Amino acid sequence: MTLRALIFDVDGTLAETEELHRRAFNDTFAVEGLAWDWDRDGYRELLKTTGGKERMLAFAAREGIDFSTEEAARLHKIKTARYATLVDRGGLELRPGIAELIDKARAHGLKLAVATTTSPQNVDQLCHSCWGRAATEVFDTIAAGDQVAQKKPAPDVYQLALQQLGLPAEDTIAFEDTANGVRSARAAGIRVVVTPSMYSGAEDFTGADWILPTLARANWTADLASLLPAA
Ligand SMILES: [Mg+2]
Repeated sequence: MTLRALIFDVDGTLAETEELHRRAFNDTFAVEGLAWDWDRDGYRELLKTTGGKERMLAFAAREGIDFSTEEAARLHKIKTARYATLVDRGGLELRPGIAELIDKARAHGLKLAVATTTSPQNVDQLCHSCWGRAATEVFDTIAAGDQVAQKKPAPDVYQLALQQLGLPAEDTIAFEDTANGVRSARAAGIRVVVTPSMYSGAEDFTGADWILPTLARANWTADLASLLPAA
């Protein structure tokens, strides 16, 4: 294989976004008069359900609360806007090694892609906040949100990214922070580097090709360093 593209998850991988997402959910519930308040431990459990709408529906089902998919969609719009406001206020930073890796990959002519279950607006907000550029200027292609039928851990969003890149799985490496993400990338046949995040550290990353604390160059293993552009 020749490495031709890097494919990045967004939440937890590019930046520790989940704390801000949790705040945006709780702000939304408060504004809407719902007596829902997601604490850190509860949110860690809820993160096993990917996608914001699905997460609220899973919570309601678990608590025996009558809550429709239409209501979930409506609240999710409010939550997405709230999250954007929090990001605008400077709530996010790239995780160590991300900025350098993306710069070097670009300089070496590698393609850069996103494969995420978060909304395209969230990706764009993060890129504006962290790079001062639109998502389409940082990444060549973005597979996001509701573009696919099945969210992670299904392989769909990675398969879409490969299709958009026009590359076979073996020419790419994925970057993830969760067990669901690892399973999704592996199911699409893509090798995956996992950098556990604040909310995913205790998960089982079986199937990951590399597990590193962060993407800082000093953490790369020799075999990974032989693949990734470093200089
Ligand atoms: Mg993630």
